[in-house]
Formats: sequence, C-alpha cells, structure tokens
Amino acid sequence: MDKAAFYRLSYGLYVVTSRKDDQINGQIANTASQVTSEPPTVAVSINKQNLTHEYIEASRKFTVSIIGKSTPMQFIGHFGFKCGRDIDKFANIRFKLGETGVPIVLDHTIAYIEAEVVNQLDCGTHTIFVGRVRDCGVLDSSDEPMTYAYYQEVKRGKAPKTAPTYQEAPKKAEKVDKYTCSVCGYIYDPEKGDPDSGIRSGTKFEDLPADWTCPVCGADKSKFEKEG
Ligand code: FE
Repeated sequence: MDKAAFYRLSYGLYVVTSRKDDQINGQIANTASQVTSEPPTVAVSINKQNLTHEYIEASRKFTVSIIGKSTPMQFIGHFGFKCGRDIDKFANIRFKLGETGVPIVLDHTIAYIEAEVVNQLDCGTHTIFVGRVRDCGVLDSSDEPMTYAYYQEVKRGKAPKTAPTYQEAPKKAEKVDKYTCSVCGYIYDPEKGDPDSGIRSGTKFEDLPADWTCPVCGADKSKFEKEG
C-alpha cells in the first residue's frame, strides 16, 4: 500500500465552527465536502479530541467558512494549531452569527455554508457529521479558495521559478540552514524569510529576534530543529 496516493487527493481548507450554549469555537479542517445537491447536504470529518467536535455533538450544528488563497499562515495557525480549551479563538477575529447561531468567520472567508446535523458516522478517531444546509453565501468573489496543496506548498516555503515571490537560491558555498518547527512542521526558510512577521528574505535563523515565534503555531525558537 503506497500511502502517497492519499496526497493525490484534492482538498480545500476550511474553518469549521460550532457552538455549545453561549460558547463558540472553530478549527481548521481540510475534510469538508458537498455530498448531495438536492436536498443540499455537506459533510465534515472532525477529530473526536477537538473542542469543535464536542460542540457539534451538543448543538448538532456546524458552519464551514471557506478561506481564500491570500489567507496568512498566522490565521491558519490560529485556528489550526491552537486549542479552544486554552484560548478564545474568536477574541480578535471578525465574525457574525448565522441563521443557525453558529459563527461565520468574516476574516479571510470567501464563502460559508451553514448546516444542521442529520446524520453522523463513527470513524474511529474521527466522526463524519452530515449536515443539511440551512444557509450559505459568498462573501468575497475576488479571491480563490485556498486548496490544501497550495497551503502545503506555501507552508513549505517553496515557490516555483515562475512565481513573483521566487528568490534565487544562495550560492552553495554559503550554505544557509532551514529550521523546522517540531510542533507544527512549519519550515523556516532563510531564502524566504517570514514576511508576515516583518522578517526580510535572506535573514538567517540565527539572526531572527529572540522573541520571534513560529508564524503557524506560535512556538518559540527553541522548538525549532535544524533540517538535516
Ligand atoms: Fe509551529
């Protein structure tokens, strides 16, 4: 069995939100899809350990906010690598409550789909929640949906030679090390820097400010390991 086949599946990237009484939470998921058009039905696969899972089980409602390609990694890290049990994920996020009372993320969201759970399937580590669509809408038609493949490419800090962000690799004689975040897998690439945090391309890992943190998960420099 060659599991590399899984990487050939195409996915988007979404913030799946829910609520439990007056508490709201959301998380990043790449496993959301439309399953029927009449009646309009969608499904999401959510890890049982996640707070959002607990909230969906409680309220039987979830909303899928489809994020755009221009979404910064900090935003994805905020919803994807932080836990709603530790922080209020919506503290500094623009959102509105939809028809079902579940938050629709407004920052970086290009479209949203609100659903009420009509069925669910226990898949071991995850539950697939099947939801009848109650409302949906497009918020920004100027940006394309983020794909999982695009996110991975950006996360890995690679840019094709044809891309405007491509930087010529430094001469081999002056080898500049990349560092990997042991928490989330983000790779700090000195060729690319960390423009979202104001770090210019060409900045060595060693020269990053001491208070610099992983742009995806927020881990500090000590959590980074040199790429071998
Ligand atoms: Fe990280």
